[in-house]
Amino acid sequence: MKVLVVNAGSSSIKYQVFNMEDESVLAKGLVDRVGIPGTTLEHKPIGKDEVIIKKDLPDHTAGMKLVLEVLTNSEYGVIKNMDEISAVGHRVVHGGESFAESVVIDDKVKKVIRDCFDIAPLHNPPNLMGIEACQELMPNVPHVAVFDTAFHQTMKPENYLYALPYDAYEKFKVRRYGFHGTSHFYVAHRAAEMLGKAYEDCKIITCHLGNGGSMAAIKDGQVIDTTMGFTPLEGLVMGTRSGDIDPAIVWFLMDKLGMNTSEANNYFNKKSGMLGLSGVSNDLRDVLEAANSGNERAKIALQVYYNKVKGYIGNYIAKLNGCDCIIFTAGVGENGYDVREAICSDMDYLGIKMDVEKNKVRGKEVDVSAADSKVRIFVVPTNEELVIARDTKRLAN
Ligand code: ADP
Repeated sequence: MKVLVVNAGSSSIKYQVFNMEDESVLAKGLVDRVGIPGTTLEHKPIGKDEVIIKKDLPDHTAGMKLVLEVLTNSEYGVIKNMDEISAVGHRVVHGGESFAESVVIDDKVKKVIRDCFDIAPLHNPPNLMGIEACQELMPNVPHVAVFDTAFHQTMKPENYLYALPYDAYEKFKVRRYGFHGTSHFYVAHRAAEMLGKAYEDCKIITCHLGNGGSMAAIKDGQVIDTTMGFTPLEGLVMGTRSGDIDPAIVWFLMDKLGMNTSEANNYFNKKSGMLGLSGVSNDLRDVLEAANSGNERAKIALQVYYNKVKGYIGNYIAKLNGCDCIIFTAGVGENGYDVREAICSDMDYLGIKMDVEKNKVRGKEVDVSAADSKVRIFVVPTNEELVIARDTKRLAN
């Protein structure tokens, strides 16, 4: 069985084709600048040369059409015709409170995705465009939606409610949702295997540290808490997002800088975080390099970043009443060993001790804790596409 996984953004479409007999990837690629002049498709068929096609495309349907053409191309394609694709899995960012699991997409599901436009204006509209483009081109196969929020739906009201007038929740669904769910799910299950314990018996803290970042606390197979909230702006310090701040700062700065709501949205989502604080870059590698060259602001920005993660580790150990393992994943978590080392330093009171030599690895699944560490520290490369492909296969069957 072959499954196509699609992740449609506002001007991009990422895709992967899996052979689910052995879960191998046959091809992956990205269509960039959809609907903007200069559309580019980068197609990587595994075992063949990468292909780059430049061709202006007006919309997601045209983008998906080009993807299907390259997948079936006699030279660099990986399937003979589209009939080989048995199902399509779509990443959808927001499922609101309606979905705690992946679902086969029908009109009702599309309505819920549309109803969430209000609370996920940047993500759900392009996600739905991707779904509709694929349905138009592949009307005879099941399409499955896998939600970023679904994994966190086990949170209880005491962790997902904000202390606002209850109306805000009842009328407008203002609550903590959490994101990166497929990644937290994947690494937490891998970690249970590494611990040699049943997933349902583990106390786990997952740290998904990429350009965006979030952490989750998992106990008895349920998410207890996560750092991202109503939107992906809350929680950790990110590439360009502020993470947790005093909400009064928002209207104070709107007033001082004369910003309207959309400008404020841009300020806290796109200009803040490591970029705003360090003045160097949103890319952590650049900030690390600047700090190593003596840039004081970069050094401070890194300390703020590390402190935030440390703080949530403490918070979550308290809520879990213990911890079997802490997992680092995503771009920074998998590759930035200096970042992992800084976060885990001086945490021995909580039973967290890293083996700094073992920790000097990038992008490998490995236990980097010291032999006498009460809490295991794992690096686990994430694989969100595989989670989507597995759910798609299961539901299509
Ligand atoms: P996204 O949220 O865009 O999916 P990724 O998970 O790909 O992000 O992570 C991107 C981040 O990973 C960037 O900030 C990049 O600097 C960081 N990163 C990649 N390699 C390293 C490294 N060796 N050390 C520290 N950070 C790294």
